[in-house]
Amino acid sequence: MNFNLSEEVRAIQDMARKFVQNEITPRMAEDDANHAFQEDLVKEMGRLGFFGCPIPEEYGGSGLGFLAHAVVTEEVSKVGGSLRAAFNMQTMGTAREIYQFGTEEQKRKYVPKLASAEYLGCIGITEPNAGTDVAALKTRADKKGDMYVLNGSKTWITYAQVADVGVVYAYTDPTQKHKGLSAFIVDLHSDGVSTGPTAGKMGWNACPTGQIYFDDVRVPAENLLGGEEGKGFKCVMGSLDNTRLTAASGGVGMSQGLIDASIKYAQEREQFGKPIGTFQMVQEELARMIVETEAARLLTYRCAAQKDEGNLNNSLETNMAKFYAADVSSRVADGALRILGAYGYSTEYPVERLLRDAKVNQILEGSANILKMIIATDALGYRKANK
Ligand SMILES: Cc1cc2nc3c(=O)[nH]c(=O)nc-3n(C[C@H](O)[C@H](O)[C@H](O)COP(=O)(O)OP(=O)(O)OC[C@H]3O[C@@H](n4cnc5c(N)ncnc54)[C@H](O)[C@@H]3O)c2cc1C
Repeated sequence: MNFNLSEEVRAIQDMARKFVQNEITPRMAEDDANHAFQEDLVKEMGRLGFFGCPIPEEYGGSGLGFLAHAVVTEEVSKVGGSLRAAFNMQTMGTAREIYQFGTEEQKRKYVPKLASAEYLGCIGITEPNAGTDVAALKTRADKKGDMYVLNGSKTWITYAQVADVGVVYAYTDPTQKHKGLSAFIVDLHSDGVSTGPTAGKMGWNACPTGQIYFDDVRVPAENLLGGEEGKGFKCVMGSLDNTRLTAASGGVGMSQGLIDASIKYAQEREQFGKPIGTFQMVQEELARMIVETEAARLLTYRCAAQKDEGNLNNSLETNMAKFYAADVSSRVADGALRILGAYGYSTEYPVERLLRDAKVNQILEGSANILKMIIATDALGYRKANK
């Protein structure tokens, strides 16, 4: 498998690296401390084409592909998780999902505006009693003439309070279990939509997370994703196969950010008259961090390259990449904290933020348990992951 990046991909990777250095890094700590949503940065990333890689040019993207999406996400994630969230809110969970599952009219209407961040997007799956068990959600969409009427609530929704449109999952026929689940493109400025923040959270602080309430919200029937009822489960699973690639890339980027901070510190900090980088135990920690991150990167690039080859249903390889990259980012954050000592615990350095942000990698877009279950049941022959 060839992971050589084309000239165009290297150019956007370089642009992302410079954007991180010049625009994001100088204000990241302050925005995180103030819980300030970095809307201007999201909009600018949209204008620069960061969200359009896996979207064809015809629909407002660059068509550079999934590997390009992975490397750009990786660059932006080096400073934390708050902005990496945008790669799923604007691309994988919304624009790319509408591109894959939507009608021609839906694609033309929404994909370019999400990819350019003219519209902010969100993904409405989780509910108070439906986390991992997606089929347990209770939101209803009842057909009334040429409208669906939405009732229910969503929780833990990234961008809930700021999004213009959401891909929202609701039952059109709850008697059919997951076969009665449908997906809708919902205008979140519609009458009957209200939002509120979730309780305070540990990380991703420069990115809002909230609840969305639907109270008799009228959604035009033409906004039923793909124009067919009962396709919601297929759409959500297809979408997770893409959002997990972003999550894996996020894990790799955070790990690399932690390694970079650790190397710099280990070269500068002196104890016993020498840089701490000369101590073998610090070197052992660093070597482990580097090798695990490189392994996570290879799994992530393999997953992306397979998708670029047209294998979009590579759930097994996607789940491996997401599980491993998430786990590694947590371990690398522990290692970085050990190398920086008290300064790793201080808000003066990026390590404490990256550690808090890395933790969520093991929860959202498929918890570690679920990903391990998919990998093991495939190996045991109980249930094939790649359909
Ligand atoms: C910061 C943040 C942002 C989020 N953004 C979004 C968003 O934009 N849109 C959205 O829809 N959701 C979002 N979520 C929700 C996220 O997707 C859920 O948290 C996730 O699906 C897990 O659900 P849960 O937290 O309710 O855990 P639960 O499903 O209650 O699981 C709790 C624990 O039990 C384990 N468990 C559950 N079932 C099994 C099983 N069958 N076998 C073994 N172990 C099991 C899980 O692995 C986990 O360890 C976000 C969450 C966070 C923290």
